[in-house]
Amino acid sequence: MAKAMQHTLAGHARFSGVALHGGQTVRVRICPAPAGAGVVFHRIDLPGPDNRIAATSLAVTETRLGTVIGNDAGAKVATIEHLMAALSALGVDNAIVEVDGPEIPILDGSATAFVKALDRAGRRPLPNPRRFLEIVKTVEVVDGRKRAALSPSADFEVDFEIDFPSPAIGRQRIDLVVDETSFRRELADNRTFGFLSDLEALRAAGLAHGGSLDNVVVIDNDAVINPGGLRRTDEFVRHNAVDAIGDLYLLGAPLLGRYEGRYAGHGLNNALARAVMADPSAWRHVWRDQELAAAS
Ligand SMILES: [Zn+2]
Repeated sequence: MAKAMQHTLAGHARFSGVALHGGQTVRVRICPAPAGAGVVFHRIDLPGPDNRIAATSLAVTETRLGTVIGNDAGAKVATIEHLMAALSALGVDNAIVEVDGPEIPILDGSATAFVKALDRAGRRPLPNPRRFLEIVKTVEVVDGRKRAALSPSADFEVDFEIDFPSPAIGRQRIDLVVDETSFRRELADNRTFGFLSDLEALRAAGLAHGGSLDNVVVIDNDAVINPGGLRRTDEFVRHNAVDAIGDLYLLGAPLLGRYEGRYAGHGLNNALARAVMADPSAWRHVWRDQELAAAS
């Protein structure tokens, strides 16, 4: 059962690492924030006041290879999705993410290091109740064979399926209730993946300059070329689930609903979040009244 009260960090979470696309080292400090603040990114290398970007689905500016958010002044932060997934799963409602560059570090390509950094900082409850976003009507977006949908459920569920021609991936599916325990156990450690054949085009487009076998599962022809191999045989689809959780946290509240993704990437996830926001009859805000009554 998700917590009824809003939470923030008890202290500061700090980490640094290579930016997947830019290749430079970036430093991050995540600070506590008051109830109702949400998750706000703060580009401390840029002059204020236009260096803050609220983490919302409407702030998403690019989704080609990771989720990028930006503000009207042009300040951007890329590759936020794995950190957003960790914040979502650990129930951190309010935080300021200070970063000294245009991208959150990729670390090992999974959400594990973000979870560890948040654990080191600790969490503390705030005096205000947490507002959940409950899906009350199915919303679906389709792009060719890609599909993403949210439908009513008492829990936050993720059902993701992929089917790649490469036998290194093949057909994989995961379907689970997402909470802190299942995220830590089943999802957090699954890494980003990509095809070696795409790398040249990505680098020509200014992307993936920080990518290496230390932070991406790389598939060449029909094999994973990382020396340690995979962490799980279905690491790929589990990573897609992490991406979806991070992208959906841009709705600005913990979800009560069932997500279904079929080959869905960041672009379709963002289209889904925008479609939900655009249809007020598809959702409502709810509070965990019973728990609040029991706790008071
Ligand atoms: Zn990812």
